[in-house]
Amino acid sequence: MNQLRLLSPHFGSEECKWVHQVIFDELLGIPVTLEKSSACIYTLIVGEAQITWPDVFLRSLISVNLDEGFLHPKDGITVDVASVTDTTPSNLPVLFGEPRISSQGASVDLHFDISGIIFYFLSEAGSIQENARDGHERPLAVNSYSFRNNLLHRPVVDEYIELLRAMINKIWPGSVAKRNEGQIIPTCDVDFPFEASAFRIRSLARELLAATRGELSRVELNRKVANSLRCRAGNYQHDRNYTFPWYIDECERQGRQAVFYFISGHTGGSIDGYYAIEATPIVALLGEITRRGHDIGLHGSYNTFRSSAELNKERARLMQACVSSGHPVDIRQCRQHFLRWDPIYTPRAMEEAGLRLDSTGSYPDIAGFKYGTAHKFSMWDWSRRRALKVKQAPLILMESTVIAKRYQNLGYTEAALEYMLTLKVNALKYGGDFLFLWHNSHLTIEEDRRFFKILLQ
Ligand SMILES: [Zn+2]
Repeated sequence: MNQLRLLSPHFGSEECKWVHQVIFDELLGIPVTLEKSSACIYTLIVGEAQITWPDVFLRSLISVNLDEGFLHPKDGITVDVASVTDTTPSNLPVLFGEPRISSQGASVDLHFDISGIIFYFLSEAGSIQENARDGHERPLAVNSYSFRNNLLHRPVVDEYIELLRAMINKIWPGSVAKRNEGQIIPTCDVDFPFEASAFRIRSLARELLAATRGELSRVELNRKVANSLRCRAGNYQHDRNYTFPWYIDECERQGRQAVFYFISGHTGGSIDGYYAIEATPIVALLGEITRRGHDIGLHGSYNTFRSSAELNKERARLMQACVSSGHPVDIRQCRQHFLRWDPIYTPRAMEEAGLRLDSTGSYPDIAGFKYGTAHKFSMWDWSRRRALKVKQAPLILMESTVIAKRYQNLGYTEAALEYMLTLKVNALKYGGDFLFLWHNSHLTIEEDRRFFKILLQ
């Protein structure tokens, strides 16, 4: 078996080890041996030939404190890679280095820093540099390099991996295996399993008041009262949020395995919804999901995104509820409620809580490729500057990001569907997964169901 060697100027640093382990072992599927280089370039030895690229980014980062800052990417620069590969867009963005490729015999010199560019995307370096956050303390797409350069709909890291694959295979035909096929993975954050008035007297009283003020029709009030009575008798099929049987049936019709994330703590109070994970209908639902072969994950409540202790408690409580359902699950997957995220502390908090796979990885305001990839990868820990065991399975699309007025505001238009399908095609194109979020409580109108079914196919 051919063995790749990479001579690296930062041999021995955690940054260098992490980014190249992800690039070669995890994304390309071919191991690489790292060796020390005294020059400021990376040299990939491929048999008798070599591929080089400059070290521009990591040298600005290694051994500086985060508050001292590190190199910002240059906007608006692209390199034409049509001479090397025709399976990616010809214009790859050049964040660091010069947009040039030269060759000598079988060897190729890239004048842009592939390692640095991929590090920048996968580590969220941009969110560290751009400190702006919204009211929920989330980094936003509108502040990102990808937004400024119209790249949110493109998996740029996957495109770069494809470029590397093409170059290596040209020198050593067939040495890098063909890509696996990606999966379509529907996921559901269970924020509101039932309508608020189904089990809560206070909510029902509020609806009554609204009806007396003329803000709610009599017909709708009667429906809510009837729904509440039926739910209390264990009949949920008329509840507008309790769409789980339909959701699971549709997934199974298309052969998809879904993940359902449950809230099991209330660190943020009422913002974390109104169900207890131990409630009888919730425990029954947990059991049914597992019995039918779908997955359960933790939906970390509002204030857990910097707290491994709270995450740990919620994980244990969810696992206990699964035991009560008769179908124990070792909970390893999670997604943060509201997609709350601190790029420095959240991945570490998850790891310390025993979690191993996060799917919070999308900006809330514009759907697309926050990390530039649709592949799973081991995450970077900025707080301790080292690789983590916890992996990111990036979330490519949340339905409300595209549909809702407060975000992209495309509603249920053909433009909305076209944007969603562009993300789906681009995620799968390089063997990544199209992992999308559709809430059980966002299936109340026919258009929701139509969109959901199209994305599942
Ligand atoms: Zn949520």
